[in-house]
Amino acid sequence: MRTYVLATANPDKAQEIRAILDGLDVTLIPRPDDVPEVIEDGETLEENALLKARALCEATGMAAIADDTGLFVDVLNGAPGVYSARYAGEDATYADNCAKMLRELTGVDAAKRTARFRTVAAVAYPDGSWFVVDGEVEGHIAEEPRGENGFGYDPIFVPEGTKGRSMAQLAPEEKHALSHRGNAFRALADAFSER
Ligand code: IMP
Repeated sequence: MRTYVLATANPDKAQEIRAILDGLDVTLIPRPDDVPEVIEDGETLEENALLKARALCEATGMAAIADDTGLFVDVLNGAPGVYSARYAGEDATYADNCAKMLRELTGVDAAKRTARFRTVAAVAYPDGSWFVVDGEVEGHIAEEPRGENGFGYDPIFVPEGTKGRSMAQLAPEEKHALSHRGNAFRALADAFSER
């Protein structure tokens, strides 16, 4: 059994990651309270994920896992991307971010509302080695929020292959089976089994 410390303090994300990696011979422990959060000032998801994993590994002396996610909307030239958490401002809530996205896309045809979620997961080891994997899901931005599950932009993101249901209308296991985070952490599980 290998033990990793998980960088995220976001309970929504931690819960999803645990569910996706369930059944693997891996123990995940939460980031200790006395280890401060890293400022995510990278320009890419890879940079931010690695920044977080390396800092946590250094602070704890343990192998660390960090992830970073962005929503990339084609008609907005890939925005909000790496800035997805702060799209509507520094202290934006999930609802603020969704509302801003719907405002920005007012009048944009269904065919032009294409978007994708991308997650990068990084692992850093005390010996200085590291690796990253990623996962994506294609979809489009809905006209209005729908569904109560998930978090973040889930109510306004409709993944391909769900017959028009938003990510927030999927049961958690349905979301994990097709999501960016599911795909990234399944790639992580494969990478673990090859090491
Ligand atoms: P983070 O950097 O991984 O925390 O993700 C940045 C932002 O993307 C979050 O604050 C959420 O708004 C959004 N986000 C991340 N993962 C998801 C998801 O699975 N569904 C919907 N929104 C997400």
